[in-house]
Amino acid sequence: MRSTEITPEKDGEQVVVAGWVHEVRDLGGLVFIVLRDREGFIQITLPKKVVDPETFRKARKVSRESVIMVEGTVKKEDKAPNGFEIIPKKFEILNESSAPLPLEVTEKVPAELDTRLDNRFMDLRRPKIQAIFRIKSQIVKSIRDFLYSEGFIEVQTPKIVSTATEGGTELFPISYFEKEAFLNQSPQLYKQILMSAGFERVLEIGPIFRAEEHNTTRHLNEATSVDIEMSFTDHEGVMKLLERLVAKVYEDVIQNCEKFLNILELKLEVPEIPFPRITYTSAIEIARKSQEIPWGEDLDLQALKTIGAELGGFYFITEWPTKIKPFYVMPFEDEKICKSFDLMYGYIELASGAQREHRYQKLVESIKAKGLRPESFEFYLKAFRYGMPPHAGWGLGLERFVMAMLNLSNIREAMLFPRDRTRVSP
Ligand code: ATP
Ligand code: MG
Repeated sequence: MRSTEITPEKDGEQVVVAGWVHEVRDLGGLVFIVLRDREGFIQITLPKKVVDPETFRKARKVSRESVIMVEGTVKKEDKAPNGFEIIPKKFEILNESSAPLPLEVTEKVPAELDTRLDNRFMDLRRPKIQAIFRIKSQIVKSIRDFLYSEGFIEVQTPKIVSTATEGGTELFPISYFEKEAFLNQSPQLYKQILMSAGFERVLEIGPIFRAEEHNTTRHLNEATSVDIEMSFTDHEGVMKLLERLVAKVYEDVIQNCEKFLNILELKLEVPEIPFPRITYTSAIEIARKSQEIPWGEDLDLQALKTIGAELGGFYFITEWPTKIKPFYVMPFEDEKICKSFDLMYGYIELASGAQREHRYQKLVESIKAKGLRPESFEFYLKAFRYGMPPHAGWGLGLERFVMAMLNLSNIREAMLFPRDRTRVSP
């Protein structure tokens, strides 16, 4: 049984529990063991006079973090966690832990992030760290549930590709038999091809790989992207969808993850929709309070911090300069600006999206204008020559979303085994 399945009302019942030895307290004639499982803690109480001598001897010697299985009687005990304890009949050590431990599982001694990540299996045993991933799991489930209910089909596109999505340099090359190939930085081109294929609404939750050299607290070299693409709509349509999705995820997390939010000492509120919107042009006017920034330049960290401080919470930045957004974005009639948007949370970019250019000739011109060769995109362009519907979509960084919701100071906290500039293991 799990710790949460037992209550003081089960007083007198026989149960079997299993987990890790969180703590051992030896008071001579009485030994307390705190057993930790996925859901919480259970006090195992061994009075010398009551339990058999062999069990007593084993229990008092067991090392912390060993895996044990205990069979015994539930006893109501107000002073124990959750109001009960277990008096064991059988005490089995399934696997003995070595000592000393590479990392403290109790919250007593704080460790550096690097040490924690080097010993991630043990770091993840800490209830606070588990809480992050229990909430992340709920977030993914909510996203799926919401998008399925909106008629989206979940797809899997290739992660090994031959062309850069955006012609950038942020690609990891791999050797693919006698050719060179790359790890995909985004499912963008493939989800667009699926619009030509007639899927109308697709969703993908999968890894993206970015060979970004910089080591920041909001970049990973392997991240998870939630991508959608939708036909017969525009940027407005997919922005509204994104807002509703964010609000729904908050609702679900608040409803289903109270325990984990409490462990993290967080109180969440469902953000109000629609989110505030500002155009890129108004955004740089705010940024200019703290720095020089010419129109047309991308917003750097300092600019985003100034803007984020003024707007706070969730907001959209819209109407970006065409020249700093990728070729597949559709420009407005005034071609200097495009139908692209970023969803922000404070200074952190959570998602980028746009109405896409679906007109073949315009798309080819746009590829050329970015200094790229249309021939390298033939597999993609072909899908635009035989009936491509108007479409729009976005990509939401899952770890950025977790980071924003749980107020984490480093994106690595939102990834089980993060990959960064120096870390490829564990
Ligand atoms: P940034 O400007 O913050 O580096 P980006 O504009 O390069 O991000 P996009 O290509 O727009 O990122 O990707 C869509 C989303 O994927 C981003 O809004 C972000 O949430 C997430 N994302 C992109 N790159 C990374 C990364 N290196 N680590 C974590 N998440 C990322
Ligand atoms: Mg972006």
